[in-house]
Amino acid sequence: MSIVTRFAPSPTGLLHLGHAHAALFAWRRARAAGGRFLLRIEDLDSARCRPEYGSAILDDLAWLGLDWDGEVRVQSAHLDAYRAALSRLQARGLVYPCFCTRAAILAEIAAAPAAPHDWPAGAPDAAPRYPGTCRRLPPRERKARLETGESHALRLDMAKAIRLAGPLTCIEGDRKMACDPAPFGDVVLGRKETPASYHLAATHDDALQGVTLVTRGEDLRAATAVHRLLQALFAWPEPAYQHHPLLRNAAGRRLSKRDGASSLRALRAAGESPVAVRAMAGMPD
Ligand code: GLU
Repeated sequence: MSIVTRFAPSPTGLLHLGHAHAALFAWRRARAAGGRFLLRIEDLDSARCRPEYGSAILDDLAWLGLDWDGEVRVQSAHLDAYRAALSRLQARGLVYPCFCTRAAILAEIAAAPAAPHDWPAGAPDAAPRYPGTCRRLPPRERKARLETGESHALRLDMAKAIRLAGPLTCIEGDRKMACDPAPFGDVVLGRKETPASYHLAATHDDALQGVTLVTRGEDLRAATAVHRLLQALFAWPEPAYQHHPLLRNAAGRRLSKRDGASSLRALRAAGESPVAVRAMAGMPD
């Protein structure tokens, strides 16, 4: 089977050396095997993403020496596809409307002394585990609030979804292992302002685009359990995963958009060559 990898940045800033590492990692895996390398712009968070960063990403990647196959998929142009996927889950009673604000969720967690303060890492939209408030709403109240058009997210009923999907495994590298999405609780699959969330859109697109090997930073390793659950619920094919270590700065902290000096733009402006930048990104030729 031919290998298909992808790089899926969010255009919330300029690419830095950490992104260069991730992009080269995926690109080399595909090219070494004569496979396909896809580029996807994950721009669903309209408050943080900007189109000009999207164009800068394409430009910086080309400068770095990468090429990609087929059209770049820009998620914000495909909201109908995510809406349709969500309604399939809705029809099976696997999602419910959640009217809570982030502040209300935090207040509820803080007010429950026995509540576990677990905050699962592993998603760009990582959020505290939802206490389930709106899952328990009486049906009449839920209906009335929907009828008034109150703004709401759509959450996965995690316990029900797990019961339906049964035990899950994932393939990391060439190892098959058990994985459990339960610690994430009732994750958001449709945000208040967009009919999708990272988990839904990324998993949907990996299936649609025929991605066979998902490579990404190890900060997203835990999220794989949620993605495997969605794949099971939708009967989407199972890709293999390979999570790589994150590049760190001199102080040992993972690189972020705040490390302006490591942006590919700044390195280009300082006269560095693509060969030198690939080496700085931990991916020497
Ligand atoms: N868009 C995500 C990010 O920039 C990456 C998602 C993924 O590779 O699954 O963090």
